[in-house]
Amino acid sequence: MHRSVPFKLNIAIVLLILSLASSSTLGQPRPGQGTPKYIFLFLSDGAGMAHLEIARQYNRQIHNEDFVIIDKIVKEGALGVMTTHAADSLSTDSAAAATAMANGCKANIGALGMCADGTIPTSAMELARRRGMKLGIITNSMVYDSSPAAFLCHVPNRRDYPAILNRYLELDPTVLLGGGKDQFLPKSRPGGRRADDADMIAVFEKHGYLTVSNKPELEKTSRTKVLGLFSERDMSFEIDRDKTTEPSVADMTRAAIRLLQGQSPSGFFAFIESENTDTASHLSDIASVIHDYREFDRAVGLAYEFYRKYPRETLILVISDHETGGLGFTQALKDLSSTRNDNQVAATNADFKKIQSIGISLRKATEILGRNPTPEAIDKLMHDHFPGFTLAPEYKEAILKRRPLSRTLFTDPVAHALGAMVANNVQAYWQTSTHTNKPVLVAALGVNAERFKGYYDNAEFGQKLKALFESKNHRP
Ligand SMILES: [Zn+2]
Repeated sequence: MHRSVPFKLNIAIVLLILSLASSSTLGQPRPGQGTPKYIFLFLSDGAGMAHLEIARQYNRQIHNEDFVIIDKIVKEGALGVMTTHAADSLSTDSAAAATAMANGCKANIGALGMCADGTIPTSAMELARRRGMKLGIITNSMVYDSSPAAFLCHVPNRRDYPAILNRYLELDPTVLLGGGKDQFLPKSRPGGRRADDADMIAVFEKHGYLTVSNKPELEKTSRTKVLGLFSERDMSFEIDRDKTTEPSVADMTRAAIRLLQGQSPSGFFAFIESENTDTASHLSDIASVIHDYREFDRAVGLAYEFYRKYPRETLILVISDHETGGLGFTQALKDLSSTRNDNQVAATNADFKKIQSIGISLRKATEILGRNPTPEAIDKLMHDHFPGFTLAPEYKEAILKRRPLSRTLFTDPVAHALGAMVANNVQAYWQTSTHTNKPVLVAALGVNAERFKGYYDNAEFGQKLKALFESKNHRP
């Protein structure tokens, strides 16, 4: 009987047995089912669809490169669109948005892990921790900032940083990487901004953490638990970063994958955030948005490589919490002399080249100008850092008087005037210096990615995220 089976059929049977052995029969779910063993949640704060599209086109036009989020994650996975309003405001803040996405309930502005109806929910990351999954928190903001904190903490006041750090200690993340050293230092130490004299670095070390404070140290370490604090507050914008000493979001992601993977029989949940896309948008800084979004996309690329190795066990989610700035390429008048066609200009691909020529963030440019900018200092700044750009008189005036340009551009008048100058040269304008209600993108790839398809609210996203842990199919 056996001999009569044709050779080709034999091979087919062997392949069938092998494929069954490597899937559900050994307790491993088929792709798209069960609780993922490895979860990557990437959050680009403040980045709307126009931010994404501008960074994607920049990659294509300037570097002839793919954008991983679109060309890999969305292309091979699923696409969702998410609304972002808070319970008490149409334009949210990061705390209310992250609370909704982490916990599955609507939240009020400023709420950190607390539902608008007064209940204290359990977050998706807390559910992961109960499952024995390792946690990773990676951000270029302060590690205690609202977005990461809302995924792990429930405190009435988003600025209760000591409570947030204490909660982190309880949850015992394997890697905690970012800025915000100021809340770890006793108030008597230089740079310390705590109200008390607690030395939180010593406390974390007592709990088994190794502390690292620069890129080479991070790359070397293979310790079980790592606390990386790379700046007193926010980390640098990508455009300003010292690439030998300070790690980027992608550098931190690479280290986190290495540290989490080495010790995770129960898997891990890594929260990875770029806050810089939001901060740059608050400053009307398109060049910084693009450079930081590109670095964020590189971080997503590292998770994509990981997914290619473990496609049946990995879920990658790429989200944003809200849009900041109302950014978009458009048409504009060259100056205010007339509305005639010959005084109009439209954005073109050549504008990407002009953006590429900018070598510093607007935060740094504002620092260079100092507290009392002079006309000479402004001219020197333009000459040194914005060659080929023109500064319209109304923007120069706004810088000299440190005066808001409009009712919607007010958080840093000098940066907004410089941002308006850049906008006026490259035709990518900012509508506001704060958050808008523009929906944001959800890109999902891997186990249960299909569940994140569609058009839904951020609280519904949180419910989908938590539902991942309701599966009985979890391993081990
Ligand atoms: Zn913001």
